[in-house]
Amino acid sequence: MAKKQFQAESKRLLEMMINSIYTQREIFLRELISNASDAIDKIYYKALTDDNLVFNKEDYYIRITADKTNRTLTISDTGIGMNKEELENNLGVIAKSGSLAFKNENELKDGHNIIGQFGVGFYSAFMVADQVTVMTRALGSDEAFKWESTGADGYTVVADEKETVGTDIVLKIKDNTEEDSYDEFLEEYRLKAIIKKYSDFIRYPIKMDVKISKPVEGSETEFEEAVEEQTVNSMVPIWRKNKSELTEEDYENFYAEKRYGFDKPIKHIHISADGAVVYNAILFIPEKTPFDYYTKEYEKGLELYSNGVLIMDKCADLLPDYFSFVKGMVDSEDLSLNISREMLQHDRQLSLIAKNIKNKIKSQLLGLLKDEREKYEKFYTSFGRQLKFGVYNDYGMNKDLLQDLLMFYSSKEKKLVALDEYISRMPEDQKYIYYAAGTSVERIEKLPQTELVADKGYEILYFTDDIDEFAIKVIGTYKEKAFKSVSSGDLGIEADNEDKASEEEENGHKELFEEMKKLLDGKVTGVRASKRLKSHPVCLTADGELSIEMEKILQAMPD
Ligand code: ADP
Ligand code: MG
Repeated sequence: MAKKQFQAESKRLLEMMINSIYTQREIFLRELISNASDAIDKIYYKALTDDNLVFNKEDYYIRITADKTNRTLTISDTGIGMNKEELENNLGVIAKSGSLAFKNENELKDGHNIIGQFGVGFYSAFMVADQVTVMTRALGSDEAFKWESTGADGYTVVADEKETVGTDIVLKIKDNTEEDSYDEFLEEYRLKAIIKKYSDFIRYPIKMDVKISKPVEGSETEFEEAVEEQTVNSMVPIWRKNKSELTEEDYENFYAEKRYGFDKPIKHIHISADGAVVYNAILFIPEKTPFDYYTKEYEKGLELYSNGVLIMDKCADLLPDYFSFVKGMVDSEDLSLNISREMLQHDRQLSLIAKNIKNKIKSQLLGLLKDEREKYEKFYTSFGRQLKFGVYNDYGMNKDLLQDLLMFYSSKEKKLVALDEYISRMPEDQKYIYYAAGTSVERIEKLPQTELVADKGYEILYFTDDIDEFAIKVIGTYKEKAFKSVSSGDLGIEADNEDKASEEEENGHKELFEEMKKLLDGKVTGVRASKRLKSHPVCLTADGELSIEMEKILQAMPD
């Protein structure tokens, strides 16, 4: 049986697309610039195999011109252009991508830069324009053509004149309506900002005439307005540069330029991975806690680029919550983008990259802890709490990854120490990792319960953060040593120091203890003599699993 072809109501399809694919109008510029870059890339690739074609980088650029009086915005390129047939096929058939076909025909696989693949980006121009005119002349042809459309009603193609090879796309920017203003797309500063945001790393210069004020000749105080052609994009992304060419200052400038933070990063991590998944990344460990960090408002994520074009501002899937403080970007050619190029399909590549990144961050932090202690302590002061939450959350799933990164204040060292350091200093007869919980170091130092353990020469970790004890409970044991609160009933200290006093002492004060218990009715479960005390007359001990501090926190929590 002969199969029938599906019919498509192209007008409706176009309208639907224009209005539903993209969440932000400003991306039309990203799409048109990407197309222009693709068009130049095609000449570049052709020149690789065609001896008659020479590719001089200086001859290739993209130009953006805004004309407020006529309300037009023009995007010009010196790329490969289109002949009549290509115009009809590429701009007359929705979802037809000449660029994808080009990639396939030329078997461009790894290392290609061509961005187009879906054949819809061009039509995003209709989000801001009510008429689009394309004037184009193909490489190797002296004929030019003009394609024109006002959107859903279709398009016309006529012969035209054009002096140079390439394409000019003229958008007639929509008039403002009561709800919407389109003026911003004619404003120089706005256009510059949009280009910077999405297209900063397009490999060819994006030029624009920019108004500047310059000193009047012969005068030092007078200034006059002038127009200067500027290249708006930085072109070569720092992450594609060789690490050996880059200085610490370059990374710091990038951090500031990108507004990842107003502080100076403690450390940068530059990754160029070309294993199972190919990507470049520059990550930063900030120094200071952002003001909203420990609130719901804080949004984690890394910038995500596909081939140098920004796809997502904050890709949350790239960072686990416990490393949510990390800032930076990832660029990959291997991503499976969805049609709007805004969101990603949840794909394997992305989870591979995320896993890779997670391990890199962990090993870099460990390195910092070992080799640059001061910096690590700074980092830990800002974000240690998040690591402890990370241990506690997700049912302790990540404790193995995180426990080596934890630090607590030490009674012996009088500063933050890592668990591994504690273990390595432990006397042979010490069975447990001792800790004392309290609201501050000063208060813990005064706790009578710490005396016996400290007297024995054992180090005590001070838990001053309310998450500390919860995190430790999740860890359970570290290098086969269990954690023990100094206020727990059984301290596991040798017989001569047993907490239990002799029967004689106990019996001798039986009546007193009974009386005290009565007075403290309901507040304690018992009163007894103790050897634990040195200089304090009395202390509280907890017989259950939880320390007194932890019980306090639990009691304070709303049900
Ligand atoms: P995509 O870029 O995903 O292929 P678009 O809708 O953005 O889809 O563009 C459709 C096609 O039109 C492109 O694949 C390309 O063949 C052609 N095209 C668009 N803009 C230009 C341009 N400036 N120069 C040459 N060809 C272009
Ligand atoms: Mg495109």
